[in-house]
Amino acid sequence: MDVKRARSRYIYRFGQGQAEGDGSMREELGGKGAALAEMTMLGLPVPPGFTISTSACRFYLEHGTMPESLDDELESALEWLELEQAQRLGSDKDPLLLSVRSGAPVSMPGMMDTILNVGINGSNIAGLAAKHQNMEFALDSYRRLLQMFGSVVLRIPKQAFDRASEDAKAVLNPSIDLTESTIRRTIASFHQVIEQISGSPFPMDPREQLRQAVAAVFESWNNERARHYRRIHKTAENSGTAVTVQAMVFGNYGLNSGTGVGFTRNPSTGENEMFAEFLPNAQGEDIVAGIRTPMPIAELERTMPEAYLKLLSVARKLEAHYRDVQDFEFTVQGGELFLLQTRSAKRSALARLRTAIEMAEENLISRTDAILRVSPADIEEVLSQQLELTDEDLQPIAQGLAASPGSAVGQLALTAERAVELAGKDKQAPIILVRQETTADDIHGMDAAVGFLTAHGGATSHAAVVARGMGKCCITGASGIFADEIAGVLHIGGHTLREGDWLSLDGSTGRVFLGQLRLQESEAFDNPYLTRLLFWARECSAIRVWANADTPQDAQRARDAGATGIGLCRTEHMFFAKDRLPQVRSMILASTLEERERALAALLPMQRADFEELFRAMAGLPVTIRLIDPPLHEFLPTELAARDELARARREEPQSVRRLQEVLTRVQQLSESNPMLGLRGCRLGIIHPEIIVMQITAILQAALRVDAEGIAVLPEIMLPLVACVEEVRHLRKLIEKTAANVFHQQGRRIGYRVGTMIELPRAAVCAGEIAQEVDFMSFGTNDLTQMTFGFSRDDAHKYLDTYLSLGILKHNPFLTIDREGVGSLIEFAIRKAIAANPAIKLGICGEHGGDPASIAFFEEIGLDYISCSPARIPIAQLSAAHTSLARVLLESRQEGAQCA
Ligand code: PEP
Ligand code: MG
Repeated sequence: MDVKRARSRYIYRFGQGQAEGDGSMREELGGKGAALAEMTMLGLPVPPGFTISTSACRFYLEHGTMPESLDDELESALEWLELEQAQRLGSDKDPLLLSVRSGAPVSMPGMMDTILNVGINGSNIAGLAAKHQNMEFALDSYRRLLQMFGSVVLRIPKQAFDRASEDAKAVLNPSIDLTESTIRRTIASFHQVIEQISGSPFPMDPREQLRQAVAAVFESWNNERARHYRRIHKTAENSGTAVTVQAMVFGNYGLNSGTGVGFTRNPSTGENEMFAEFLPNAQGEDIVAGIRTPMPIAELERTMPEAYLKLLSVARKLEAHYRDVQDFEFTVQGGELFLLQTRSAKRSALARLRTAIEMAEENLISRTDAILRVSPADIEEVLSQQLELTDEDLQPIAQGLAASPGSAVGQLALTAERAVELAGKDKQAPIILVRQETTADDIHGMDAAVGFLTAHGGATSHAAVVARGMGKCCITGASGIFADEIAGVLHIGGHTLREGDWLSLDGSTGRVFLGQLRLQESEAFDNPYLTRLLFWARECSAIRVWANADTPQDAQRARDAGATGIGLCRTEHMFFAKDRLPQVRSMILASTLEERERALAALLPMQRADFEELFRAMAGLPVTIRLIDPPLHEFLPTELAARDELARARREEPQSVRRLQEVLTRVQQLSESNPMLGLRGCRLGIIHPEIIVMQITAILQAALRVDAEGIAVLPEIMLPLVACVEEVRHLRKLIEKTAANVFHQQGRRIGYRVGTMIELPRAAVCAGEIAQEVDFMSFGTNDLTQMTFGFSRDDAHKYLDTYLSLGILKHNPFLTIDREGVGSLIEFAIRKAIAANPAIKLGICGEHGGDPASIAFFEEIGLDYISCSPARIPIAQLSAAHTSLARVLLESRQEGAQCA
């Protein structure tokens, strides 16, 4: 074959070590066509064939007819293949048989169609049998062709064939133990089904079969499940699918044959060991469609050791070539191994993490590649909750294959439609979809459910592959369960469950439990692969990740997760603790300054002890402590509760009436029509300086004590809700005066910094002036979003959904930073602040600090750090690394372009 010459516009051939395309041509040849061409050139055993390009598909879908030149191209490609195989399509003696398979540029496992054994007809069946000296094989292939052609090309419901099958076993176990006469009867009834339902007989002309099969595969691009899959995975609608036509190799050739699916590493756990399944005497569809539960690959090793060894070496070669975990399909015909497909393996988040790290350590990929291969969503999944299995007496009611890890607790649904219905709008109810076998047709139910359980199918069936792609828990091949969708019951482990009953799945071990088990935080926080990934991520991030931590426990957790500072300690959270609330209330209720100072003096040692522990936990790292922020009435009961309490005291506890009357009066005095814009933030400290004096004293005394223990302490004092520079000047003076007093009393000094939050649009606009008065600024994007949009952060959820569905907003601005509005304010403020105070340190501590899309923005605009809740730290660290790496790659590309 002349590989240099572009022989055709629509068709690309591969065979005998040469190919007209290669792995880079996914857009044109689809993933399968491109991989087959590439594998052929790698010298792997691939049956020859040709790929009809996606542009032919696009033409067909647009015009409803094949491109004019395709017929000629197809004819000459067929002639070439006939020569390669020394067989003829339609020959009575030794017919060339073809597989016709879909292959889109982006892999969509099982969503489009395949037709095998194209080329058999009534007149060549005897020749086929004679050539292979195997009548059962020939008849079984014919039966399969009729069934696939009927359902895919002629769109006859699969059930019509199931019913027409002479033996129910032919459906569940299609090739084994069927006598010749049973298959012949099945073939005769399949012919009848086709003629009755489609109105015409099965086409006996192999070329006609091929033409119709190609058109049907093109059309399968638009079938319901493929569209649903693209919607879920946000895949482009317009690429179309390529069609690969290949000389058949036969796994249903007898017991020295079979078919299998493999992964170069375990797709569930990531373990570096080939993971594959095998079905003797079967064709590929039997496995991938999940109709039959395959055997572990050890079966191939036991029965055909040579083919097994070859498979191992092929797997190694594939992985070394693609530098990624591969998912491959193979067939063994008469002991000889053939590869039918390879693609980058869809794997669980856990597996994605482990394989990325191990491949980098094996020098197969770089550390940068490893970091980029794991997404923030993967981390979220790895850290997702697990079943609480503390009760040792708890026994599983079924056991299947651990096809996709994670846990799911939900209510049983027995059909995809019921799963959608029971899940409800916005998928509020958690649903476990249980099926005899999950076919790709169930994609909408899989989308609605939180987990899947099937009686049949292996860990390599499409259902498992799709589940791993969706990051949902899946258990397949749970033998002994029977999902009777007609009766609406599930028979499982001696129980009969109805739709709506609760089930709990442990996808990591394949165990199924009865009832609604509790979910608990994952222990994966100390996953060694995650630790390594985040270590590498931190090394290449330009922006630092700090934590929002209010308690020493949070601080320790944050430090363990690699946070390099505390960006926000909300001191008022310490006031809410049960043992402090009475002191806080007496401080608020105090009628004279002396009384208030007495209450504050009681609070001082408690705050100091909190700060000491925080400083110890974060030894040597900055700890940013924000002065009291919320309105004082938040520490008091509501007016309603105060009235009830007073009424009760009047009845039962007269001695408390006076005190409770005072509480009610104070609650009424403090009440504000709009507390979010009321006496809070730095205003509170200006009106009640004694509170600030207590807090500063506690912070600095704690810092001095911990410093005296030989632990480095870096206190940063932060003012909340500042609007104008005068507020900062006023409070800074108070802080410095208090600090001078503390240092004087203690006879020692300690360094500290003073900074401010930027949470109000005015502060952002005046950031230049404010920056001259402070050492750092931290954007409080929760309040800044609230104040910029004028959306109450507590109530906006009531209308945000409508705004999102009407497209007025593209995303919830409280979750992902609004770049145009709030983001512009931040950018403006940064520019002004740096111009006024080049040494200023800039960060952000709103909830957006844990959101990957927002982190990318904060990195781009040059913030020094982001601070987020401890649970989000791993996600933030990886997002920060991704953003920095993307920028470096872009810059080096631009530099490269300039040099060129
Ligand atoms: C903010 O407003 O972004 C912030 C961090 O402060 P809080 O959420 O405590 O108001
Ligand atoms: Mg705030």
